[in-house]
Amino acid sequence: MIRTIGILGGGQLGRMLTLEAKRMGYRVVTLEPSTDSPAGQIADEQLVAAYDDLRFIGELGARSDVVTYEFENIPLASVQALEADRRLVRPSSAVLRITQERLLEKQFVRDCGVATAEFAPVRSAEELDAAIARIGFPAVLKTTMGGYDGKGQWLVRDRDAALAALSEARGRALIYEQFVPFDKELSIICARNARGEIVTFPVAENQHDRGVLATSIVPARVSDEIAQQVRESAETIARALDIVGAFAIEFFLAGDRILVNEIAPRVHNTGHYSLEATTISQYEAHVRAICDLPLVPPRMLAAAIVMVNILGAGEGDDLDGTADLLRDPDVTLHIYGKAHAALRRKMGHFTVLGATPDEALSKAERGRALLRWIDNRAMTSR
Ligand code: AMP
Repeated sequence: MIRTIGILGGGQLGRMLTLEAKRMGYRVVTLEPSTDSPAGQIADEQLVAAYDDLRFIGELGARSDVVTYEFENIPLASVQALEADRRLVRPSSAVLRITQERLLEKQFVRDCGVATAEFAPVRSAEELDAAIARIGFPAVLKTTMGGYDGKGQWLVRDRDAALAALSEARGRALIYEQFVPFDKELSIICARNARGEIVTFPVAENQHDRGVLATSIVPARVSDEIAQQVRESAETIARALDIVGAFAIEFFLAGDRILVNEIAPRVHNTGHYSLEATTISQYEAHVRAICDLPLVPPRMLAAAIVMVNILGAGEGDDLDGTADLLRDPDVTLHIYGKAHAALRRKMGHFTVLGATPDEALSKAERGRALLRWIDNRAMTSR
């Protein structure tokens, strides 16, 4: 019987997961290195420790009936240590091992019969030249591990730029990926439980700004055939990974082809919309999956929804304009409880329901224009 869920990671995904888990009657313990984390503020208990501190990792396991994670850049050894202690970890370390390393992940996707961009491993100038000869330019060099929100990535158009990226990477293993001139970026949330039940959420269309998600539009403005291909690819990957939990897959749509960009073995920014727009959210689906509850297909409660990320500007920690934003009855605002709005840090998001994706999108753009970061302390001390 699962009563307590342990979460590795204390960010906004952990916070929303905690809120949904608590609504469903579970206790939540988080482990995260900083105090006052977005999830720790909500959880029943928070352990403040490094992700590789095996004493505290063991403590998290001892206090939880199931352990999960809200981001994939946790040390594999920590999850393996929990499993060696006979703790239930969902998704398992086998899933984490593949999905936290871009080369393993892309090869896995290909082995499932699902397409990706051409790629090659790069650890040296020789391997770089081999990759250039096979794949050509433009290309994207990425660190194979640890990158997120476009960090550890270089778009390269010639050999000099590629060599510069290799030296900037300072010995970290890289993947050389063909640059995909995509028409759209798409993603899907999928969840699978230990009985093998699989559900998929509506496909999202995502717009990024300098590597960070800016906007998700749901349903994606694509043909039924493309949406069906995305769903089927997700189900194939879910089964092959033998994953238990909710996870996200990001795709490029280029012409009529879909190519997997990456898998995130956790709830995902592009699934925030589900809190307002579907009968069960991605967070509830994750809780159901890891707690051995049934999974049911999520149904859309609105015709369309758009999610806008609220990013820090590095010039003030107070968000101005929310009162005007909240005049729209179709808007829901989420603020994550982070004290400092550093440049491009994810501080919150809002969603807007609409009769069509385009209508929701234009209202979302109007809403975004209302918001700006100000420094109230500077104003009051003036
Ligand atoms: P990632 O961290 O792999 O999700 O990459 C972040 C963003 O960079 C993606 O959402 C794309 O907008 C862009 N990007 C990454 N890889 C490629 C690629 N191979 N071709 C074109 N754009 C890419």
